[in-house]
Amino acid sequence: MAIQSIRLFGDPVLRTPAEPVKDFDKELRKLVKDLTDTMMDAPGAGLAAPQIGVGLRVFTYYVDEQLGHLINPDLDLSVEKDEEGEEGCLSFPGLSFPTPRAIRAVATGLNMHGEPVTLEGTDLMARCFQHETDHLDGVLFIDRMDLKQRKLAMKEIREAEWSGLSAPAFKFSPHATHGKAL
Ligand SMILES: [Zn+2]
Repeated sequence: MAIQSIRLFGDPVLRTPAEPVKDFDKELRKLVKDLTDTMMDAPGAGLAAPQIGVGLRVFTYYVDEQLGHLINPDLDLSVEKDEEGEEGCLSFPGLSFPTPRAIRAVATGLNMHGEPVTLEGTDLMARCFQHETDHLDGVLFIDRMDLKQRKLAMKEIREAEWSGLSAPAFKFSPHATHGKAL
């Protein structure tokens, strides 16, 4: 097990676009393992490399008992949206908010061996693919909310006990994530 500290909102790494993976080496396999271990420990439904301070385009997911990872992802989204679905983020511990997302997503990319992968997801899986790919672009779920919802969210975020603590060493009890945090 190699559980890493999860970076919190306010840490600049969460706003920095990640670089495409070029080397499919042992170091990459270790990154996938670290992401997987950290996600399962949190617990979370997804985790992107920038959330553990690594600026590479890699994420892991664990949705509907399906565990996996994707590297250099590219998304094809349905026009149909779920406007009301609640979404959380491991970098915003204990909070979740209605966040509009496409209902279906097809994610293409590579696995850790550099082989092409196509993943299809609906509902929470689709939401996860969108949320994690956003992390790789430095985009956070608050950016996907409409203005009114974002204002409400920012108020709760400012009042959260972890607010302003962007130091990576902060750890949270698992119950607060509702098992849906990404
Ligand atoms: Zn997140």
